Amino acid sequence: VQHYLTQIKQQQHLNAFIEVYETEALQKAQQLDALRKAGTPLKKLHGVVIAIKDVICYAGHKVSAASNILQNFESLYTATALQFLIDEDAIIIGNCNCDEFAMGSTNENSYYGKVLNALDHTKVPGGSSGGSAVAVQAGMCMLSLGSDTGGSVRQPADFCGIIGLKPSYGAISRYGLIAYASSFDQIGIFGTTVQDVALLFSIMHQPDVMDSTMLQTTTAFNFEPHHPQKKYKFAFLQPTLQTKGIDVEIAGAITSLQVQLHQGNHLTDVIDFEYLDYIVPAYYVLTTAEASSNLSRYDGIRYGHQSALPAANLNEFYLHNRTEGFGDEVKKRIMLGTFVLSTGYYDAFYNKAQKIRRLLVDQVTKIFETYDAIILPVCPTTAFNIGQNDKDPIATYLADIFTVFANLTGLPALAVPLFSHSNNMPFGVQILTNKNHEVILHQIADMLM
Ligand code: GLN
Repeated sequence: VQHYLTQIKQQQHLNAFIEVYETEALQKAQQLDALRKAGTPLKKLHGVVIAIKDVICYAGHKVSAASNILQNFESLYTATALQFLIDEDAIIIGNCNCDEFAMGSTNENSYYGKVLNALDHTKVPGGSSGGSAVAVQAGMCMLSLGSDTGGSVRQPADFCGIIGLKPSYGAISRYGLIAYASSFDQIGIFGTTVQDVALLFSIMHQPDVMDSTMLQTTTAFNFEPHHPQKKYKFAFLQPTLQTKGIDVEIAGAITSLQVQLHQGNHLTDVIDFEYLDYIVPAYYVLTTAEASSNLSRYDGIRYGHQSALPAANLNEFYLHNRTEGFGDEVKKRIMLGTFVLSTGYYDAFYNKAQKIRRLLVDQVTKIFETYDAIILPVCPTTAFNIGQNDKDPIATYLADIFTVFANLTGLPALAVPLFSHSNNMPFGVQILTNKNHEVILHQIADMLM
């Protein structure tokens, strides 16, 4: 713990942490050490130092979703998934910076300021879980938790050169995870080895009656290393490599990976996929709709920021609280969401996007009748320059093309860092398997790394 606290202090300029639980983490370490010396059997995460994203509730600790509207709000209870880690004697070292309400791809939309990529300070770490990614990238903890609604674990993992897991929808309880878009959100894991990530997943993948959208019959997950004799069937989606704006080196690396896997006697087919152009619009229609509804609870009455401005009536009171409390990106998405849900537009936007979601699910179901996994890029480019998002926010949304796919379909996906770009930034690939096939997902990652 002392080592990690020193790392955190020395790298404060990266702005990865919002709060560091210094005293508490040191005390916990001492308690655990005493247990060990007394010969008590060690639990699975004895002394494992973990950081959490500022959207995960931890009783008695502040949680703000990096928003002014929740500044100084303290959690009344602990998220189930986090409790499972604490029960195995993990040490929680602090909570990490992120985009406000997990909305963003650069970690520049935070009330607490931007996070820097430790490899190059002119680049973003990705988002929205940028702080959690940098905490692992820069050695400020062993593992960290993020949340992934449309790529917020996999894309920052890719930009930072580490591993990022988004589990199957319903595999990890969302109880105590601040909601952005409930039918997409999942807690995800950052780590540096497949085994570590698998270990955290195995502990958090347990049923929870507090989350009615969880799989009710979770089978225990146990990591099984890749066996060299085992051959897989991979699908590469043809149009992904011709996507507008995809970096030539990234497209080239995926193509050579396909050749390499083929030479290793795996089946590697390049298949057609007709709906690629629809997935970003469908994602932003559905998630903003859900967000506008989820964020209506922040009215400044029950909790959160209250404006000092005089209000003539209740509506004006809400208006002041929310105007001052939310940042621009969040306001933009609330407005978009209320628009697509409004009478007269509901069928044109919301319903249509739901139909696209259904078509995507049907299409992946077909793909997995034949294949074990789909291989995709994580992002069309390596880490963006700081400030790029302000200049062209639409381009940032479009760059979510490869990650939102797994959230629209509920599939599990792992981003693994495999390559180095000539610009010296890392990048990797995404492995997607059928829903609840996390065992094979980790086996493939184990083989590729
Ligand atoms: N970049 C995506 C968005 O802005 C993903 C966010 C997320 O996964 N939380 O919505």
